[in-house]
Amino acid sequence: MEQVSFPPLSSVVICGGTHGNEMTGVYLVREMQKQKVDKVGSVSINAVMSNPRAVEACTRYTETDLNRCFTDALLSSPITDSTPYEVRRAQELNAQLGPKGSNKAVDMLIDLHNTTSNMGLCLIFDSIDYVTLHIFKYLQSKIPSVPVRSLLLEKPPSEAYSLDSVGKHSFSIEVGPQPNGVVRADIFNIVKEAVDHTIGFLQEFNRGGTFEGGEVEAFTVVKSVDYPRDPMTGEITAAIHPQLQDNDFKLLKRGDPMFLSFTGETVKYEGEELYPLFVNECAYYEKKIAFHLAQKLTHKFPSIRVKKD
Ligand SMILES: [Zn+2]
Repeated sequence: MEQVSFPPLSSVVICGGTHGNEMTGVYLVREMQKQKVDKVGSVSINAVMSNPRAVEACTRYTETDLNRCFTDALLSSPITDSTPYEVRRAQELNAQLGPKGSNKAVDMLIDLHNTTSNMGLCLIFDSIDYVTLHIFKYLQSKIPSVPVRSLLLEKPPSEAYSLDSVGKHSFSIEVGPQPNGVVRADIFNIVKEAVDHTIGFLQEFNRGGTFEGGEVEAFTVVKSVDYPRDPMTGEITAAIHPQLQDNDFKLLKRGDPMFLSFTGETVKYEGEELYPLFVNECAYYEKKIAFHLAQKLTHKFPSIRVKKD
C-alpha cells in the first residue's frame, strides 16, 4: 500500500463523564483540568466533562444516553421544551468541539469509558481510519501489561451516534472490569497510559516521523444475545454462566455454557463460532443485551506521515 499523508494533528480533546457513572474518565478529566494541562509540545490539549449533570448524579445519563445523540439527525433537531437534556448537551458539545464533519472540528477526540465487563483495554472505532489504526498498533506495543484490542463499528458518519464521531480522527477507550460509580487505580493507570502514549504518538507524527504500514485485528459485532426471559413478565430467568463470565474475547463454540437459569439449568450456545464481548455489561440490561457476538477481521493499513505544505 502506498504511503498516505495527513495534515498535522495539533489539537486533541479528552472527554470523560460522557456516562456519568464511569469514573476513570471523570477523575482523569478533573485531574487534567486541575493541573491546567493545555499543551504538550506541538499538541494543544483540552479536557472536557461531557455530561456534568449525569456526573453530579453519578448516573449513566439523566434523560437519554448522551453517547447515542451525535447522529446528524439529532444534532440538527430543533430544540423544544421537551428536548432531553442530553440532546441539548450533544448540540453544545458539537458546537464547541466540531461541528462534526467540518474543517473546524478538533483533530483528535478521545472519549473515555468504563465497562463492568472484563474487556481489558478496548479501542472503539466508528470506521476505518489509518491514523487511529496506527495509534491502536502503537498502544499495543507500548502497553504490554494488558490486552489491547479494538472494536470496529463500521457506521457511516451521518449515523455514527457517539461523541467521539465529532472529531476529525477519534476513538473511544473502553476499559474494564470496573463497577459503575467506582474508581480503581489499576484501571485508572491503564487509561492514563493510553492517553499519554496517544499524545506521544501525535508528537512523533507532527515531528515528521514515518509510521510503517502493517495490519491489525479488529472485532466487528455480528449480533447481540439477550438473556432468557419469562414470556409473561419479561423478567430475566437466568444469569451469564460462570464459564462465560469474564471470558470476553474467548471464542464461544457450539455447546459451550452460556446462561445458568435461576432454577439451575445450563443454557448452551448453539450458533456459529464467534467472540463474545461486553459480557454482562451493567448498562446493557436495559438494552436487552447479555453480550455481543463478534467476528475477528484483519485490516491492512499503509505507512503514514505528516503532510508538509
Ligand atoms: Zn460508557
